[in-house]
Amino acid sequence: SMASPALLMRVVASAYSVAEKAATIVRNVMSAGDLGIVEKAGPNDLQTKADRLVQMSICASLARKFPKVTIIGEEDLPTDDVTEELIENGHCEEILKKPCPAQYTGIKEEELVIWVDPLDGTKEYTEGLLDHVTVLIGIAYGGKAIAGVINQPYYNYEAGADAVLGRTIWGVLGIGAFGFQLTEAPAGKHIIVTTRSHSSTLVNECISALNPDTVIRVGGAGNKIIQLIEGKASAYVFASPGCKKWDTCAPEAILHAVGGKITDICGNSFQYNKEVKHMNSAGVLATLRNYDYYASRIPNTVKQSLVP
Ligand code: AMP
Ligand code: MG
Ligand code: MG
Repeated sequence: SMASPALLMRVVASAYSVAEKAATIVRNVMSAGDLGIVEKAGPNDLQTKADRLVQMSICASLARKFPKVTIIGEEDLPTDDVTEELIENGHCEEILKKPCPAQYTGIKEEELVIWVDPLDGTKEYTEGLLDHVTVLIGIAYGGKAIAGVINQPYYNYEAGADAVLGRTIWGVLGIGAFGFQLTEAPAGKHIIVTTRSHSSTLVNECISALNPDTVIRVGGAGNKIIQLIEGKASAYVFASPGCKKWDTCAPEAILHAVGGKITDICGNSFQYNKEVKHMNSAGVLATLRNYDYYASRIPNTVKQSLVP
């Protein structure tokens, strides 16, 4: 008989189903109409009932199946006493059929760290910009983002009633990424995607220095990585602190799985071991192609104002 699938593939297959349940919760909270908005650090740092329920659902579901894995979620919530209706115990069979890359077959539960952003783009969710929202589950090993799931609960929501609502993108380094059509951005054009709700003088100065043809301002780190891998934008540029490890882990794994690159604004790679500082203090620079073009044009003055 076949050996049982490697732990990494079982975690990704479960994370896929857990993210689909999360998407259902995100849609149900919105259609029920009571978002239960709480300000965390201030009016641009919000938490809704969906952020809370989804975090409990994802963390409790994955902890039950993989008790020795470290799971770090964005929201500060108790993890015990999660109601049974929030638990998802399914998995995606198609993922389990893919062979695990050789360098990951021996991974043990204790060696994995899962970074969870239950709802990325909360500000936009509260404003009805629903396709900016994603659910992010990133999987790290040896400090590196090696696998990830991005669910976009409202993908297609403006495409009409017969369009299928929502999608799940997943990827593993050495296997690739699935659930979307990989597309290059238009050649010779510099289309920058950046924050919509967390701009600053420095954020805008940095973008201007890159002489963009177009600037797209949308919410969510997950959403911005989707813009890169679908050819809508050529670079994600955010010269500010604010993004955290749960914002970048799943997007990084998926972007790297298709040959892209993400670093902070100074060019340093991100680390995802459990002891790491949560804040990405030196911002984000990401591309599917031509990373060096953008990296080489970030002004030194911008780099010097952002300390990693
Ligand atoms: P944005 O591109 O503004 O949607 O930000 C991407 C992710 O980083 C989201 O999860 C934001 O909540 C988070 N983020 C970025 N800047 C800030 C900030 N100044 N305060 C709080 N969260 C932030
Ligand atoms: Mg986020
Ligand atoms: Mg969030």
